[in-house]
Amino acid sequence: MVFSVRLFEGYKMRDPTAFLEKEYNELVEKALDWRLKEVQGPSEPVSIVDGREVIILCSNNYLGLTTHPKLKQAALDAVKKYGVGSGAVRAISGTMDLHMELERRLAKFKKAEASLTYPTGFMANSGLIPQLIGNEDIIVSDELNHGSIIDGVRLSRADRAVYRHNDAEHLAEVLDEAEKHSPEYRRILVITDGVFSMDGDIAPLDEVAKLGAEHGAMIYVDDAHGEGVLGDGGRGIVSHFGLTHKEVHVEMGTFSKAYGTIGGHISGSDALVKFAWNKSRTWLLSSSHPPAVAAATIAAIDVLETEPQHVRNLWRNTDYFKKAAQELGFNTGNSQTPIIPIIVGESHKAKALADRLYEDGVFVVPIVFPMVARDLARIRVQMHAKLTTEQLDSVIEKMETIGRDLDII
Ligand code: PMP
Repeated sequence: MVFSVRLFEGYKMRDPTAFLEKEYNELVEKALDWRLKEVQGPSEPVSIVDGREVIILCSNNYLGLTTHPKLKQAALDAVKKYGVGSGAVRAISGTMDLHMELERRLAKFKKAEASLTYPTGFMANSGLIPQLIGNEDIIVSDELNHGSIIDGVRLSRADRAVYRHNDAEHLAEVLDEAEKHSPEYRRILVITDGVFSMDGDIAPLDEVAKLGAEHGAMIYVDDAHGEGVLGDGGRGIVSHFGLTHKEVHVEMGTFSKAYGTIGGHISGSDALVKFAWNKSRTWLLSSSHPPAVAAATIAAIDVLETEPQHVRNLWRNTDYFKKAAQELGFNTGNSQTPIIPIIVGESHKAKALADRLYEDGVFVVPIVFPMVARDLARIRVQMHAKLTTEQLDSVIEKMETIGRDLDII
């Protein structure tokens, strides 16, 4: 008893927040801390970062819509008409006509019965997944799925099974096993990223959907990096594979990438959308988008529907850059999209490559363990529709010089 009192008194004298600095310092020592660079202008392919002009090759703004005149004008008009905030969560008084129009337009664009927007993509995944499945169910997930999916899965308390990345044969085995061992599962949910953000490869969604159908599973795809990029007019991965929402039950995405604004969304059946808005805590308990965001996003859909050149230019630049990098001997992994990893192996090499490129006016980030395997460190190039061939040539030239200096090629 005396011992525990002494301990308690000692405990009271300690700083309860001491771990904050200690843990941060540990990250710094291991070079695992994030150092922020300040973008001092618009998100354009060429902008000012920490005081110097650089070509930005690490933005999700694939099509350049963040600065498209139609989006900017729509946001300005919305501010004039509605002000800057919505004043509430959607379920109380935060649903404006603009939010409803955006969802109608998105559903039409995605050829879905209905769509629903969330404050962010992270909140769509972390809010909806735990409502679709619970402790009587099993979720079957690609091993490289995004962190927001992983958090959603953890919140669900469902049993979990992981299949090897993009490996449909392994998925079939996992589904067979799940069915054999636990016929009592109430539901099976198979979930995959559409385009994988570290490798730029595409999920075999057609095979995933077929296997799901054979096992009576729901199919959920996170198409954050596929929309605005893949499919008819940038409609995304469901369109890319010619599938429908009868086969892919939840098509999730985000406006924060190719659409140029911000906000998560889902598309699918009318029943899915009604279920989602009544059950997702991240939807019910978090405020709706400022009107300018909703208006600019509607304009983004307009642009996708009427200006196909942006998606075309993105692919032209992607093919040009990837071919040039490969011809120089860089390893671009399994990239099938505008996400182009330049895999160099050890993490210090990836960091050196990124640092040297930055000194030479090219902003890319190194991606190292734990985001990728220890021996697959890389820089990740994300292509942009508005880069010119001259700009791409100058990047390639710099990569060649530095790549040779660092013994990468
Ligand atoms: N899913 C994937 C695959 C992503 O890459 C991201 C963004 N990093 C998200 C979800 C989250 O989207 P948001 O930025 O809208 O929260």
